[in-house]
Amino acid sequence: QAHTELRDLHIYTPSMDSAARETQALLGELGPALEQGELRLHYQPKVRLATGAVEGAEALLRWQHPRVGLVPPGRFIGHAEQTTLINPITHWVIEAALRQLAEWRRAGLDMGVAVNLSTRNFSDPELAGHIHRMLEATGVPGGCLELEVTESAMMLNPDRAAAILSELGDTRVTISIDDFGTGYSSLAYLDRLPAACIKVDQSFVQRVETDNGAREIVRAAAAMAHAMGMEVVAEGVENARVLDLVTELGCDLAQGFHLCRPLPAPECRSWMEQPRGF
Ligand code: C2E
Ligand code: CA
Ligand code: CA
Ligand code: CA
Repeated sequence: QAHTELRDLHIYTPSMDSAARETQALLGELGPALEQGELRLHYQPKVRLATGAVEGAEALLRWQHPRVGLVPPGRFIGHAEQTTLINPITHWVIEAALRQLAEWRRAGLDMGVAVNLSTRNFSDPELAGHIHRMLEATGVPGGCLELEVTESAMMLNPDRAAAILSELGDTRVTISIDDFGTGYSSLAYLDRLPAACIKVDQSFVQRVETDNGAREIVRAAAAMAHAMGMEVVAEGVENARVLDLVTELGCDLAQGFHLCRPLPAPECRSWMEQPRGF
């Protein structure tokens, strides 16, 4: 039976209509998937460039679908954002990531974790309360939790990020600006954002080797962020040359396939515990 369905989904898709139907069918299963425990987190380490130390890991959502296999977030997050499903999904992500982090910290890994928020999470009145409860339940210090919000989401709701931080009170949870450089905010605007860190979008990082413009954007963003007391992460570092360049351009931290791909927790832990040089 499962065999027939797999064939229907993947081989007999002669038109856009059936591709659309396939996606539709999949998305209809997302709510039950959350209930049935089919969501998973993979973790991608974030490394401090000056020392090589792993400072944290970003939690990235996947859906382990019983027939389709591992579904990447690009195929279902947008849909979840258009419904209110994104709120319980985000609550699940925060809980799962903090539980994982608590386990790693108990094992001696001195690190933090970052989770991604959607614009829609900003209007979730339960978000801050959920974070408070989960920090308490897991014993993780709030300073070890980072909320990643895209630059465009920040721009759409400039006051909500600050409001959420104030609801988080003295927990020391931080906000990072994700995909920095793609949201068309002026650099001067950074000053008004309640963020501790910017993550320079991979589209710039990947071009630093070949494109002077991209290189100068990364340099300027890093200088400006530092002037505002923020740290700078280079995302999407895919080779050693880019790793050297983003270091020279002033980035503090890096993430990317060259360092480590997003991995299930046990594999990520092995990577983090291994001595290495880049
Ligand atoms: P993002 O937050 O910008 O995450 C970075 C994406 O780039 C991840 O894709 C990661 O696997 C990928 N990546 C990391 N290093 C490299 C590299 O060196 N080269 C390249 N080409 N790619 C790299 P992923 O896991 O498919 O996630 C895609 C997007 O889905 C994320 O982009 C984020 O916006 C969203 N997302 C993922 N998990 C969650 C979640 O729990 N909640 C929400 N709201 N969104 C999520
Ligand atoms: Ca992110
Ligand atoms: Ca931190
Ligand atoms: Ca990003």
